[in-house]
Amino acid sequence: MNKQKVLMRTLQEHLRTSCFEEVNLGYSKEEALLEADRCLDCKHQPCVAGCPVGIDIPGFIRLIKADQIEEAYHLIGLSSSLPAVCGRVCPQESQCEAVCVHAKKGESVAIGHLERYVADTYYQQNHTYEPIQSHHTKVAIVGSGPAGLSCAHDLINAGFEVDIYEALHLPGGVLSYGIPSFRLPKEIVKREIVELTQRGVKIITNVIIGKSLTIEDLKDMGYQAIFIGTGAGLPRFMNIPGEMLPGVYSANEYLTRLNLMHANNPLSATPIHRGKRVAVVGGGNVALDAARSAIRLGADVVYLVYRRGREELPARLEEVIHAEEEGVIFKLLTNVKEIIGDEKGFVKSIRCVDMVLGDLDESGRRRPIENPKKQTILPVDEVIMAIGTSPNPLLIQTVKELASDKWGCLVVDDATNETSMPSIYAGGDAVTGAATVILAMEAGRKAAHAIIQKYKPL
Ligand code: FAD
Ligand code: SF4
Repeated sequence: MNKQKVLMRTLQEHLRTSCFEEVNLGYSKEEALLEADRCLDCKHQPCVAGCPVGIDIPGFIRLIKADQIEEAYHLIGLSSSLPAVCGRVCPQESQCEAVCVHAKKGESVAIGHLERYVADTYYQQNHTYEPIQSHHTKVAIVGSGPAGLSCAHDLINAGFEVDIYEALHLPGGVLSYGIPSFRLPKEIVKREIVELTQRGVKIITNVIIGKSLTIEDLKDMGYQAIFIGTGAGLPRFMNIPGEMLPGVYSANEYLTRLNLMHANNPLSATPIHRGKRVAVVGGGNVALDAARSAIRLGADVVYLVYRRGREELPARLEEVIHAEEEGVIFKLLTNVKEIIGDEKGFVKSIRCVDMVLGDLDESGRRRPIENPKKQTILPVDEVIMAIGTSPNPLLIQTVKELASDKWGCLVVDDATNETSMPSIYAGGDAVTGAATVILAMEAGRKAAHAIIQKYKPL
């Protein structure tokens, strides 16, 4: 038995940096069969326990071996409505793959790659779906990110009437406006959403709940339950001098302009400043996505400025490796103290300080401590802040009865995801703060099951 995973082929580096084509190219049938053969079909199934939505992993791998891809897709579909998305962006290395028995002595089975293979192969045939017979109990979902979509998936399958209200002009949440297409092609997101709409979920875009309509309006419109999955789209800043200079972006604005507003097209009505020397501040997936996008937009130099070391980078290892291959320069154990402007007021450089790692902090990582004697100036003409996001306060501000914590996250019941208001549920980043796609999906499912228990006609 091969101790190593079958590697996924990637787009050659010299082709990557000038286009937004997907970098990972997927498995061929032969590669998928070879990788599937490594699965031992363990009786105690540790990988299933490691998956937040409990996908029957050995079950779908068994079906790959039997070349029953449609059946494998439907088996995954019992637990997940976004298999092609999750196969691409889930942090499997810290979930199902981390506990795979193979991981003890060699490399785990490439569960994510196999999930992606199943979904992509299934989508190659053009399937259409019949609408599901509804029993006319209406549920409104606010926000069409993974939390809202996965709640809608389980509710529509249980016969509920489901309407999703989305503030933006495209559904998908971060999957559409955040994660760039070189990691997650937009047609993949669209394909997974089409299945839901064919089954009967209505998506109403360009409606901001809390502005265009209120929660009270939704209740008056006959919705018996409401799920809030509004995410955490409010960027945080460092509050350092120079942060308001032209040429400083939040990663959210930068990536949204790119993904939703066609900013990479020079003829776009909403173009983006194309920095030649760019500093991205942060070390998570968002920071890496922004840095790799800046390279593709023609920057000569892109620094990733992160105050801890490589091992502490919160981004997925695969993304770190791809960023290194593409030429991103990692300025580790470095923090930005000031953004300096030129005589016209545009970004000219950043003043950085070296950091050392101290004892463990409350997050379990070693605390970064400044070494003020070691400061450097880096000449840059663009700075992208990717140091985290918080829930958007708009909805909470308009509904006083909705309890939230000091970070603005909605407070919910652990078992049902019901908020402080009866029949109003919430989940995903709006509750946890910025987290992951699969955790948002898990929360959406949990709320859906609570709604089904409460409202399903006998
Ligand atoms: P969101 O995806 O944020 O969706 C919320 C939706 O609600 C949005 O469409 C928003 O427009 C809408 N909305 C907000 N307010 C209102 C309102 N008042 N009325 C109507 N609609 C509203 N996770 C991973 O697992 N792997 C990754 O590789 C990864 N990479 C990431 C890269 C980037 C750039 C970003 C930003 C995040 C990344 N994440 C990743 C995190 C992941 O995408 C989020 O945790 C996940 O999308 C949260 O899902 P959600 O449904 O809670 O919220
Ligand atoms: Fe297969 Fe690994 Fe799961 Fe065992 S733990 S069933 S080898 S994927």
